[in-house]
Amino acid sequence: AFTADIVPQAPEDPLFGLMAAYRKDTFAQKVDLGIGAYRDDNAKPWVLPVVKKADKIIADDPDLNHEYLPIAGLQQFTSASQRLSLGADSPAIKEGRVASLQTISGTGAVHLGALFLSKFYKYSGQTPTGYFSNPTWANHGQIFDTARLSHKTYRYFSPTTKGLDFEGMMSDIKATPEGSIILLHACAHNPTGVDPTQEQWKQIAQVMAQRRQFPFFDTAYQGFASGDLNKDAWAIRYFIAQGFELCIAQSYAKNFGLYGERAGCFHFVTAPGSDAQSTITRIASQLAILQRSEISNPPAYGARIASLVLNTPELFAEWEANLRTMSGRIIEMRTQLRAKLEQLGTPGTWNHITDQIGMFSFTGLSEKQVLKIREDAHVYMTKNGRISMAGLNSHNIDYFAKAVDKVVR
Ligand code: PLP
Repeated sequence: AFTADIVPQAPEDPLFGLMAAYRKDTFAQKVDLGIGAYRDDNAKPWVLPVVKKADKIIADDPDLNHEYLPIAGLQQFTSASQRLSLGADSPAIKEGRVASLQTISGTGAVHLGALFLSKFYKYSGQTPTGYFSNPTWANHGQIFDTARLSHKTYRYFSPTTKGLDFEGMMSDIKATPEGSIILLHACAHNPTGVDPTQEQWKQIAQVMAQRRQFPFFDTAYQGFASGDLNKDAWAIRYFIAQGFELCIAQSYAKNFGLYGERAGCFHFVTAPGSDAQSTITRIASQLAILQRSEISNPPAYGARIASLVLNTPELFAEWEANLRTMSGRIIEMRTQLRAKLEQLGTPGTWNHITDQIGMFSFTGLSEKQVLKIREDAHVYMTKNGRISMAGLNSHNIDYFAKAVDKVVR
């Protein structure tokens, strides 16, 4: 029988537990800074106007049907996704050394990549270990566990500066065995909001090339971070230009607001060379088998929306404007929060709020302070002191700043 020692009780997902606690709270001024989903100035989910438009065009198409997509997904979607991530003029695309499969959003892309590496990636006869930033998105570890890939961490966040511990990161990456898988957040690092500068990315690439390491890029916030799609893809394109063999897990949850539709893409890029095309053909054939055994065919709806927008110049331009609306509001909240805390004379420094980028900010609040602010002010954030910037708006930012001020004093 399935006794407790065979199937022990698993812990609740901390984030989804936090959401449930927030929903139960009846206090009128409660603030939700937990989940990483965009909210408008009225704390409501925002359907991007361009998504509404694309949705209507698709619904009105008399030829629309609900047949299976191919195993690798909607071809117009995966090729537009390549161009978006790698750049339209990417030599890797021109040289036919990219294999792309539509996945169950970013999670599915990380999973497919982990599964592929677990099955096929060997260095000196061994399956290499994956190295994650400390901290990282909580799901990375679980996904690698499921794929039976071992994982460790490299230093990343400095609690003192609330910025990047660049020296720690470099020395840890240098110390990993040759051929290790290094997981990198392409932009808007989750949970810290701290990214390397372009100069630092160059140094990271140099060390990783020396150590023959395998970059695994997770890109869940392209265009959402800075408002500029190219800027947010800079690191990925730089690594490809250096000739790395690498993979990319791409999510459209945040930048299209298509959270529940699960639109994403996995790309494997081989190094340039005369055998690149035959290598990529073999890799694509194995990825297709993994995909078939896991999901058979990816879901069509979200990919159709993203594909229509990505492949229609006027809609694409409108999407870029929508991205600037979201990233602009978040950047504005950062500016205001920092200014308010500084005005209140809240102990400590608050420049990290505006130095950090993307959906999240690592406030530096301790677990004790996080629990106290939840108890006293009904403000919900994760125990590590991470706040989702999108949960702040013109109606609650004063309230939040005062609550932080109170708990820090
Ligand atoms: N990777 C990172 C770093 C994330 O923050 C997220 C979402 O929070 C994802 C991947 C994947 O999200 P999804 O599966 O919803 O695309």
